[in-house]
Amino acid sequence: MRYALSRPTKIAAFALAALLAVSLCSCQRHQAQAKIAVDKLMLVNPWNAFPQGTPAGLVNIADSIQCENLKLKNDAMLAQGEAVEALARMAEAMAKDQVGPLRLVSAYRSIEYQQGLYQNKVQRVIASGTPEDDAEDAAAREVARPGYSEHHTGYAFDFSGADGTLDSFYQSDAYRWVAEHGAQYGFIIRYPEEKSSITGIIYEPWHLRYVGPEAAQAMANQGLCLEEYLKKQS
Ligand SMILES: [Zn+2]
Repeated sequence: MRYALSRPTKIAAFALAALLAVSLCSCQRHQAQAKIAVDKLMLVNPWNAFPQGTPAGLVNIADSIQCENLKLKNDAMLAQGEAVEALARMAEAMAKDQVGPLRLVSAYRSIEYQQGLYQNKVQRVIASGTPEDDAEDAAAREVARPGYSEHHTGYAFDFSGADGTLDSFYQSDAYRWVAEHGAQYGFIIRYPEEKSSITGIIYEPWHLRYVGPEAAQAMANQGLCLEEYLKKQS
């Protein structure tokens, strides 16, 4: 039970985090932690943890860009500045093709936030009848363990379809456009169906990762996932 926190403890932790968030300005809060320089090719997967701390380079997406064809689930989302600019350029290009909007539902996630998502998933897996001993591993194939999510880097983005669910993004014209043109803007569909034995994550058509146009186009041309691309580079 690696991440077992009782529900009251979790609620208290979230309450404390919320209190800190409102009582300190973001600058003070970030100065109190070590900031980590995050390369856009940083590998975070079930076998490679994100280092403890807050990434450098995060910006508030709503404050940074104005783009009609990019709908944000809320105004508090953060991501890496370079990736946010690329996202806006991609959404603009989509609009010119009369495709979209692109609906962003999740970007940077802290390790604490991921803890809540993961525990939630473990509980749902148990409720669906999976034995408790297997529940953590089963949950981790769909929701990364805290510390092992690419969303900690600030370079990962989840999109939804018009109904707000991740699953429906796959059926949208925005998904088809991104699958065809996303690499030009530096984005890859990070967890393709045929690569799940290498990525350790199920097929997630809604999860895009920014790696920059050069790497993204190389991966698209050679049919490589990030793990394969980095191995080839080394
Ligand atoms: Zn994701």
